Amino acid sequence: MEVVDDAAGADVVVVNTCTVTREATKASRSAIRRAVRANPAATVVVAGCYAVSDPEEVQAIEGVDLLVGNDDKERFAEVLGVARILPPVMQIGGLRPPRLPFRVRANLKVQTGCDEWCTFCIIPTTRGPLRSLDEDRLIAEATDKVAAGARELVLTGVHLGKYTYDSGGDERSLIRLFRRLLDIEGVWRLRLSSILSQHLTDDVLSFMASESRMCRFLHVPLQAGDDDVLRAMHRPYDIAGFVDAIERAKEALPGLALATDIIVGFPTESDAAFEATLDVVRRVGFSKLHVFRYSPRPDTAAASMPDAVPPEVKKERSKRLIELGNEIRARFLNDHLHRPIEVLVEDERDIDGVTVCSGQTDDFVRVWFEGRGLLGAMVELEGHEVRADGIRGGRVLRVLRR
Ligand code: SF4
Repeated sequence: MEVVDDAAGADVVVVNTCTVTREATKASRSAIRRAVRANPAATVVVAGCYAVSDPEEVQAIEGVDLLVGNDDKERFAEVLGVARILPPVMQIGGLRPPRLPFRVRANLKVQTGCDEWCTFCIIPTTRGPLRSLDEDRLIAEATDKVAAGARELVLTGVHLGKYTYDSGGDERSLIRLFRRLLDIEGVWRLRLSSILSQHLTDDVLSFMASESRMCRFLHVPLQAGDDDVLRAMHRPYDIAGFVDAIERAKEALPGLALATDIIVGFPTESDAAFEATLDVVRRVGFSKLHVFRYSPRPDTAAASMPDAVPPEVKKERSKRLIELGNEIRARFLNDHLHRPIEVLVEDERDIDGVTVCSGQTDDFVRVWFEGRGLLGAMVELEGHEVRADGIRGGRVLRVLRR
């Protein structure tokens, strides 16, 4: 089996869906319909949360051949080998994984499921309760990925900070996992995908501070800058706790970049509450904001709250927040200019006769530059110019590792 990016002519088309908001569900439905229309001869597989939350609705879409649950979606190659003899939404185990593709930055899913029940979120329903993956299996998987060329591992999970909490563990398990992963020969970087502020404990931060291969980047979801809204969202922290965690993280990890998610227009968000969100964003100085306009997701607790914020107000708040985020991000990106920066090269391709490399910095900035034969290398160069959400770099000053 060969994985192709372009669906045209593919035998199997996989549509990975999301249902985090009503808009996301709508977009998932359209993506499925487009895939069916564009590939009438292909087997169309629907994976992800929409396949789990509304299987009957998805199956009813003409042209859908198969549904795959979240726990199976990373094993398509195995699943598809037996797809035609299995019923929709399958449980499959004990099959050998496919040959790994070359990826300089590879994800490692260490945990899934969530038990927070935020009132706007369907994930605890679609992904189920907390489940952590076995540490030894993760080390084996990571070792395979590193052997296949990965230099940066990104730990992913719906609720990464609660790794092993489902079996009575605590943050020490996460730190032990970091340590064991960093012991694998060839791991140059370890990155966390997203972690809630209350899991940035002193022990986690001091481990990160002691290990230069832990990326100086954290994605810490805020969602709202007002305690009343956070309570209505059933978020497991308040603003004082969030800001305290961020301040400790910044102190422990100089140069730390911080990204976050924010929902605007949640049912209880007043003008003052929104101003408080702007204020927290200014104080923290997030390097990247992901702004979402609230829309009720059926079957969540918030869906029964009156959707009190009019669409035009949501739009205006979203615009102001995005502008503030862009302003802060521009300053952050500018800080990468005219000084040496380290880039792990993840891609190299010819564009109009020029070989362009791209990769990421430790603090998660994409950098493009001209160079050849550098895929998978760690290089040092100077940032020259801020470009569409990244940096254009100058010539390579040094190859640090390869
Ligand atoms: S922490 Fe909240 S928003 Fe995140 S997955 Fe769990 S329930 Fe959803």
